[in-house]
Amino acid sequence: MSHEDCIFCKIIDGEIPSAKVYEDDKVYAFLDISQVTKGHTLVIPKTHTKNIYETPPEVAKELFARVPQIANAIKDTYNPIGMNLLNNNEEPADQSVFHLHIHIIPRYGDGDGYS
Ligand code: 5GP
Ligand code: ZN
Repeated sequence: MSHEDCIFCKIIDGEIPSAKVYEDDKVYAFLDISQVTKGHTLVIPKTHTKNIYETPPEVAKELFARVPQIANAIKDTYNPIGMNLLNNNEEPADQSVFHLHIHIIPRYGDGDGYS
């Protein structure tokens, strides 16, 4: 179910272009437009849900079930030496897009620009 005025729903629908990393019937993953490190990816459910507080368990289950496969694909493509997963909820915690998303942030060691 897509949500009016949600940029990530528009990305899922193809109205806004994105660099696709992975897609199936439940989940979409794409490169973050602002790469904090090389390969920085966002993983989102195709069902619109604002953030973790409003996410039904079934949607969370489908989303997180895909994360290991997507993380491994990023690992194989970019060869990082580590990886952070991050989920921001509400503005005081730096959520700026109100469609649930998991950041996958590949790490390359000292000087990769992320801390
Ligand atoms: P948040 O701050 O909500 O945790 O993360 C939102 C992320 O979405 C940010 O890292 C931001 O760079 C990314 N973002 C915002 N608009 C777009 C867009 O139109 N395309 C892509 N690929 N990423 C976006
Ligand atoms: Zn949405």
